[in-house]
Amino acid sequence: MKKNIAIFFITAVSAVSGVRAQRSDSLFIRRIYDEALLNGHAYKRLEELCKGYGSRLSGSDHAERAVTWAGNMLRSYGFDTVMLQPCMVPRWQRGKTELLSVSSPLLNKRLKQFNDTAGWACEALEERYKKQAASYLLPACALGGSVGTNGSVSGSLCVVQNQAELETLGKAGRLKGCIVLFNEPFDEKKISTFSAYGGCVYQRVNGASLAARYGARAVLVRSMSNSCDLHPHTGVMHYVDSLPQIPAMAVATSVANTLAAVADDPKLVITISMDCQTLPDRLSHNVIAEERGATFPNRYIAFGGHFDSWDQGEGAHDDGAGCMHAFEALRLLKALGYTPRHTLRCVFWMNEENGARGAHTYAEQAAKNGEFHVAAIESDRGGFTPRGFSIDAEDAGIAQIKTWTSLLAPYGIHQFEKGGAGVDVAPLKHGPNSMNKSMLQMGLIPDSQRYFDYHHAETDVFESVNRRELHLGAATLAAMIYLLDQTLE
Ligand SMILES: [Zn+2]
Repeated sequence: MKKNIAIFFITAVSAVSGVRAQRSDSLFIRRIYDEALLNGHAYKRLEELCKGYGSRLSGSDHAERAVTWAGNMLRSYGFDTVMLQPCMVPRWQRGKTELLSVSSPLLNKRLKQFNDTAGWACEALEERYKKQAASYLLPACALGGSVGTNGSVSGSLCVVQNQAELETLGKAGRLKGCIVLFNEPFDEKKISTFSAYGGCVYQRVNGASLAARYGARAVLVRSMSNSCDLHPHTGVMHYVDSLPQIPAMAVATSVANTLAAVADDPKLVITISMDCQTLPDRLSHNVIAEERGATFPNRYIAFGGHFDSWDQGEGAHDDGAGCMHAFEALRLLKALGYTPRHTLRCVFWMNEENGARGAHTYAEQAAKNGEFHVAAIESDRGGFTPRGFSIDAEDAGIAQIKTWTSLLAPYGIHQFEKGGAGVDVAPLKHGPNSMNKSMLQMGLIPDSQRYFDYHHAETDVFESVNRRELHLGAATLAAMIYLLDQTLE
């Protein structure tokens, strides 16, 4: 009898203290969201970044000037430490010339037919195409890392809809001397557009080498986007050392559709010309701001986005938004007078897009300096309405995070799924210098439906970001950092 009472007492006490903890957590999280929604700084700082500095391709002068701005901006908030961490980055440069022209007697006729059937996209196309005698100039841009054409490259067009078709045509010798168009569209049935992207991005990353193996002269790659528009979306591509390096261009989705529809014209000739090049590596920096932990100053919770972007647009969603989420999360906690238990570190990583040199340097330096990271969170999926987190952890860690569902549900945060956290945090856990293979890693998941309308295209500008959505993302990140800081040892 006595024993039973004791058990009841312990259970009752822990239940009461659990309720109290949940209640104080829920009140503090409410304050985080209130401060973000009433007095958020992220949107204003994102405007300064995008409009003051524009795109931030690794190794560019723009990127270096923006790094200086970021250091000064973070210092102006009085965080305990602000530092620039040096790292060497690759330097690929888009040239002044970027032309894709198609000469096809059938094109005029087909454009007329498109207008009759598939309306808007092709009317827009006709306006945009600059007809030059019998050829058209089409919206296209070099893929990042591509070699130039050293003059121009011409050839007939071979369209492949998927990798199996590439192999079949290649083995039959039908790609030799061709300009190959990779034209596999996103799978529209997939709810997460990141999952659709994952199924198609091999075309952009590996397409040039896949086609070079069968003697192709160059590749055009359908833009990685759900939308049917006229914006070519760039992005990184890689060559395989043992194969010839052939030029690679992105074409807008509506251009890819148009080219595929005239590919049966026996007189069709494609000509491309571009003078992009790779220059020697250049010194750049990760940008870091931190608030020291009161209980575990030598244990770190890192969170951030990547500061570099592609050179189309302003890198607003990708990934100015992620960097501003991280800065604002640190600001929110400081503005509310929160004393962190662990050292909280906001990081703007450099060079995620074409090398992840900043991420690798950060992990190396953390190991060298004995900075033990207990958790890391990345935001690199745009500034849209937050939905939840992907979690790279053992099942017990995921179960722990799911116990916070009721605290975050009032803010629309309900998606907690096992998955990768992000390219920039991965080396901390999975790289050769990892100090903590069991650390918790997470990626902020916003709504994904519009992300690939903007991704790596000239449309990724400040105006495409919504103030409330951005501030909700920052508050969500801050709430998660708070819960991790309170829970982890
Ligand atoms: Zn990104």
